[in-house]
Amino acid sequence: MNKDLGNITNADVWVALKEVTDPEIPVLSLVDMKIVRDVKIDGNEVHVTMTPTFAGCPAIYQMKSDIEEKLRELGFEKINIDLSFKEPWSTDMLDDEARLKLETFGITPPTKHNGNPTSAINAEVKCPYCKSNDTTMENPFGPTLCRMIYYCNSCRQPFERFKAL
Ligand SMILES: [Zn+2]
Repeated sequence: MNKDLGNITNADVWVALKEVTDPEIPVLSLVDMKIVRDVKIDGNEVHVTMTPTFAGCPAIYQMKSDIEEKLRELGFEKINIDLSFKEPWSTDMLDDEARLKLETFGITPPTKHNGNPTSAINAEVKCPYCKSNDTTMENPFGPTLCRMIYYCNSCRQPFERFKAL
C-alpha cells in the first residue's frame, strides 16, 4: 500500500478508532470506553497509547489487532500500540454519552464512585428497561468479567450491570 498519508490528521485517526468496538461491549467503541488514550502520527507510522480495563483482560489481544487492522486500512504501514498504566482505567471515565449507549443497549451503566469502587457495591441498581430500582443480583459472573446479571422484579426481565471499577 502506498497511500499518501500526508493529509491524515490525528482527528482522522480518532474518527477511525471510534469505529473499533470493544470486543466485550460491542455497543461502545474503544474511544467511548476511554481505552484509547493518545494518538501520535509520525510519517507513515502511528503510535496509539491504550490503557486496558480490567486487569488481565483477555480481550486486549483482540483490541490490539482490531486497532491495527483499522489503521492499516487508513494506510499506515507501521502501527505501534503501547500500553499505559499511568492513569489506571476506571469506569468513572465513561462519559454521559457512553452511559446512555449502554443503557439503551440494556446494560445498566457502572455506578459512579469517585475513586472508591467498593462504594458502588451496595448502590441501587436501576433496570435499564423500566428504570425501576426493584432489582436483584442473580449472578455476579456475567458473560464477561465486567458484567453481572440482575433480575428486575418490576418488569421481570433479566439484565446486565456493568461492574464499577
Ligand atoms: Zn425493569
